[in-house]
Amino acid sequence: MTAVAGGAPPPPAPPVVVVGAGPCGLAVACALADAGLPHLVLDAGCVVQAITQYPLYGTFFSTAEKLAIGGVPFVVAEAKPTRRDALAYYRGVVRARGLHVRQYERVTGVERAVRGGFVVHTETAEGSRETAARGVVVATGYFGTPNRLGVVGEDLPHVTHQYREGHEAFQREALVVGGGNSAVEAALDLARHGARVTMVHVGEGFDRNIKPWIRPDFEARVREGTIAMRWNTRVTALRAGWATVTGPGGAEDLRAEHVYLMTGYTPSPGLLTGLGVPVDAGTGVPAHDPATMETPVTGVFVAGVLVSGFDANRIFIENGREHGALIAAALAAR
Ligand SMILES: Cc1cc2nc3c(=O)[nH]c(=O)nc-3n(C[C@H](O)[C@H](O)[C@H](O)COP(=O)(O)OP(=O)(O)OC[C@H]3O[C@@H](n4cnc5c(N)ncnc54)[C@H](O)[C@@H]3O)c2cc1C
Repeated sequence: MTAVAGGAPPPPAPPVVVVGAGPCGLAVACALADAGLPHLVLDAGCVVQAITQYPLYGTFFSTAEKLAIGGVPFVVAEAKPTRRDALAYYRGVVRARGLHVRQYERVTGVERAVRGGFVVHTETAEGSRETAARGVVVATGYFGTPNRLGVVGEDLPHVTHQYREGHEAFQREALVVGGGNSAVEAALDLARHGARVTMVHVGEGFDRNIKPWIRPDFEARVREGTIAMRWNTRVTALRAGWATVTGPGGAEDLRAEHVYLMTGYTPSPGLLTGLGVPVDAGTGVPAHDPATMETPVTGVFVAGVLVSGFDANRIFIENGREHGALIAAALAAR
C-alpha cells in the first residue's frame, strides 16, 4: 500500500465479505484472492461446519478432484474421500491460500452504508461487532434449518435431525423417518450396528435422487427383515420409547428408542430478504443473474447450495464451487 505524502497511509480498503465458510464460500474467497480483491469470510461455526455434521464415518459420493477448490489439490488414498479427509483438506485450503476467516461469528444482518458499501452486523460469544464491506456474498447453505415434522415430542432427547453413528442403537429399536439418501444410509448403518430398524416415509417410494448403488443393499435388508419399511406412513407424535404413526392401515404405536428424522433441510434466506433481495416463494430460489451470481441489489451476491432454493440436490460442492469465479470476475470488472 502506498503511503500518502506527509500523512498517514490510507485506510485498508473494506473487503468483500463472504458469509459462510462452507466449501462454496471458501471457493469464493479463493477466487476473490486470485482476482486481487480483499476478502473476509465470516462463519457462525467453524470452517466447513456443515461437513462436521455428516455421519462420523461417512464417505463422499464425489471424488476428491471434484471437491477441490482454489487450485489446492485434494489427494486421498481411497476412491472417495471420507468426512475426516474433507475436514483436513478444507483446513489445508484456508492455510495454503492464506484465507481471512473469522469463525464463530454469526452474521445477524447486513445493511447499506450511508457512504456506499455495506455494514455487516455480527454476534460472537464476546459480543456484537460491525464490519465494513465493499460487497457481500451470501453462502449460508441450508444445514442450519432442518425440516421439522411439527409433531409433539420432536425436541425430546432421543430424537435427532442428524445421524452420527449406529453404535448408540445396538440391540435397540431405531426409527428412521425419510425416503432420501440420508434416511436410507442411516437405516443401513443402524442395521449394520445391530439395531432393530423401522423406516417410515410419507411417499410411496424412494425420493427421486436416491443413489442407485445403495438401493439394492437396502432392498435386500428389507427382504431379509433386518429393516421394516412402511411407505405412505407419517409420524404423528413422539414420546419416550414410542412413536405414533399413521399409514394405510390406520394409526399404530411403534417402539422407537432412537428416532432419526432424516427429513432434509430448508435454506434460510433471511439475510437476503433483509437486504430486499426477492426470494421465489415456490422454489425458494433467490433472484440472481446466473452469469454473475449478483442479486438485484447491487453488490450483493449469492453462492453455493443456498442458490438452489428448496431443491438442495440441484447445487452441491461439485458445481457450487464454480460460483466464486463468476463473482470475482464481476467484481474485478468494476
Ligand atoms: C451426508 C452428506 C454427503 C454429501 N456428499 C456430497 C458429495 O459427495 N459431493 C458434493 O458435491 N456434495 C455433497 N454433499 C452436499 C454438500 O455438503 C453441500 O452441497 C455443501 O456443503 C454446500 O456448500 P455451501 O458452502 O454452499 O454451504 P454449507 O456447506 O452449508 O456452508 C454454509 C456455511 O454458512 C454458515 N452460516 C450459516 N448461516 C450463517 C450466518 N448467519 N452467519 C455466518 N455463517 C453462517 C454455516 O455455519 C456453514 O458453515 C453432501 C451432503 C451431505 C449431508
